[in-house]
Amino acid sequence: MTTATKYIFVTGGVTSSLGKGIIAASLAKLLQAQGYRATIQKLDPYINVDPGTLNPYEHGECYVTDDGAETDLDLGHYERFLNTPTSQSNNVTTGRIYQSVIEKERRGEFLGKTVQVIPHITDEIKHRIQILGKSGNYDIVITEIGGTVGDIESLPYVEAVRQLKWELGEDNALVIHLTLIPYLSAAGELKTKPTQHSVKTLMESGVQADVLVCRTEYDLPADIRRKLALFCNVREEAVIQSIDASTIYDVPNLMLEEKLDKVVLKRLGLNSAEPDLTVWNQFLTRHKNPKGEVTIGLIGKYVELQDSYKSILEAFIHAGAENEVKVNVKSIHSEFLTVDNAAESLANLDGVLVAPGFGERGIEGKIEAVKYVREHNIPFFGICLGMQMAVIEYSRNVLGLTGANSTEMDENTPHPVINLMESQKTVTDKGGTMRLGAWDCNIKEGTTAFDVYQSSAIKERHRHRYEFNNAYKEQLENSGLSATGFNPETGLVEIVELPNHNWFVGVQYHPEYKSTVKNPHPLFVAFVKAALKYKTGK
Ligand code: GLN
Repeated sequence: MTTATKYIFVTGGVTSSLGKGIIAASLAKLLQAQGYRATIQKLDPYINVDPGTLNPYEHGECYVTDDGAETDLDLGHYERFLNTPTSQSNNVTTGRIYQSVIEKERRGEFLGKTVQVIPHITDEIKHRIQILGKSGNYDIVITEIGGTVGDIESLPYVEAVRQLKWELGEDNALVIHLTLIPYLSAAGELKTKPTQHSVKTLMESGVQADVLVCRTEYDLPADIRRKLALFCNVREEAVIQSIDASTIYDVPNLMLEEKLDKVVLKRLGLNSAEPDLTVWNQFLTRHKNPKGEVTIGLIGKYVELQDSYKSILEAFIHAGAENEVKVNVKSIHSEFLTVDNAAESLANLDGVLVAPGFGERGIEGKIEAVKYVREHNIPFFGICLGMQMAVIEYSRNVLGLTGANSTEMDENTPHPVINLMESQKTVTDKGGTMRLGAWDCNIKEGTTAFDVYQSSAIKERHRHRYEFNNAYKEQLENSGLSATGFNPETGLVEIVELPNHNWFVGVQYHPEYKSTVKNPHPLFVAFVKAALKYKTGK
């Protein structure tokens, strides 16, 4: 193996939402499965410094890394596919690029020069692209450029790719262009013209695509592949079809059939071998051949948008495969859940997950849901805000603390059982200021959490400002809600449980971020198992 890091850029054409992240993750998986150390980076052309301040309606879930970066949800796919952690360096936005260039300018580092998009912004982009490569930890860095070529805001990125390709040389960098081959049913034909145009748009910026990955609903016949190769200046073997798949987890195998890995490795002057996908395929077999099914209610306020709870939905797929059951996730809008319709919405479920979230909208519905499942012994899993809702519900309905609430929802509550963290009280900026990333948690022995993790020391990822108010801990514990996990430094309650319930666990952290194909998260696995037991009585 050569020592220089190789760079693969993934651009998109024709439309957005073609799944650049899944193609990048699938290619990385194939490279990793033949011994290469591969990582993936996402460059986002928007001006937010990170997606942490974005509403999930705008941009889907905000994914959080171990080092506390609030990132694009594609990083979740990278981790789920590769089972290796990502970090702040794996996600860069235009806002972050400009922020650091402007900070340098204020420090006088440009020595009186006029600061311009080219070279200063493009240099910063090139620097960010190469941080991972220069760390010495990777043989191959795949950089996904967000947006679609031709967008005004993508231009500096495409220019940075052009320069880097030139500087690094033919053998060290290549461009994969992901595009769409639409099928016109009236004509009964697959159409290549949009792809020809988007490849040309890329060429206008001086970038020649080396590989075309073509999203299509139908198999691409040889003549279409030949035509694409001829008109787009790529080798015929480098025209790769990416046919619609029933699950994203099929894509690595589909790319293997199309030899995407071999085409890429050959072009970069690297050896290829048969990828070892044993564990991956075992997962796929279990995922596709369930022996039963369970239905879990997902109570949230962004339920109409699949991307808002991406990591939770994927964690259920991993946990379902592990338990060899299909997990049907039924989305239930918390805003419309009331005491009058709780039974109708929840009685037939095998488990209920109350989702993370911010702000007041829909929280009374979440509290109703917790009450119903607590009283009816239905397995319950609360994540972050979901855990906080469980504490509020118990305080109100079991301890009789009327009006108990989180100070996030009611600053003047008589019983602030969930309270703003001390460290948050001086915080004014919204971006990047929550309690973020991996923190230690110690688990009490003899608890459900201990049984699940088989360990008393864990590390999980966080994203919150509010916490369990320890002033109410004794009262809550005396009446049956146990605090079973704590941060060792601050005593912050990380896990609550009801020991006398089928399965009732609330966690202040986000276990969904750490669930991968190779390592399904033990809490999701245990929750699905409990749901199955509840359903079948076994
Ligand atoms: N809004 C709550 C807090 O900030 C919960 C956050 C979340 O669910 N991620 O503490």
